Amino acid sequence: MCNARPAADMCVPLLALGATAVLQSSQGTREVPLSEFFLGPGRTVRTPGELLRGLKVPAGGPGVGSGYQKLGLRQALEIALVNVAAYVALEDDGKTVKTARVALGAVAPTPILSPGAAAALTGQVISEELIRQAAQAAAADARPIDDHRGSADFRRQEVNVLTRRALEQAWQSARRD
Ligand SMILES: Cc1cc2nc3c(=O)[nH]c(=O)nc-3n(C[C@H](O)[C@H](O)[C@H](O)COP(=O)(O)OP(=O)(O)OC[C@H]3O[C@@H](n4cnc5c(N)ncnc54)[C@H](O)[C@@H]3O)c2cc1C
Repeated sequence: MCNARPAADMCVPLLALGATAVLQSSQGTREVPLSEFFLGPGRTVRTPGELLRGLKVPAGGPGVGSGYQKLGLRQALEIALVNVAAYVALEDDGKTVKTARVALGAVAPTPILSPGAAAALTGQVISEELIRQAAQAAAADARPIDDHRGSADFRRQEVNVLTRRALEQAWQSARRD
């Protein structure tokens, strides 16, 4: 977390889950939502005197589900080319989206949330078509650059594919719980 690598595995799911960082120094403790924690590659809001003491993750429950998808060139010990996490909480009717968060990794200087995907999903009845629309919105929110591991266009397409898969995973697990 404190390395703040834009492609790190743990940062993206924790961002989607709505986690909060607990920072402690000799002056006291403060809590920072993860959406405000990362400033850029290798940079966070943590000051030199602070340690990351822990992370608070909201409890799940009935109608809540999440999913994680990672594209890499190998199965293990691999920095993601693109990684996407999705969180969905359904209303009591089991089909209307109460809250949704889609987090994207390796497509911006920090792990980011997709406001477009959240807006597309919130308050709507979940369906495969809605998920396709949210995945396109996530791809539009991505800010990838060309580098030696892949082009920006390729990464944007992968955001679309992986967001769809992560949301389908989240939907399935929300229905199971
Ligand atoms: C072979 C290999 C494979 C890898 N594969 C992956 C992978 O598949 N996915 C992936 O995401 N990453 C991967 N990595 C990167 C790895 O996850 C990072 O090295 C990891 O983030 C470092 O965590 P650490 O706690 O072990 O490191 P540390 O070196 O202990 O810490 C990293 C930085 O954070 C600071 N720090 C540590 N703890 C705290 C704290 N409590 N409060 C404040 N600052 C703190 C340290 O001072 C240091 O600057 C891989 C690394 C290697 C070497």
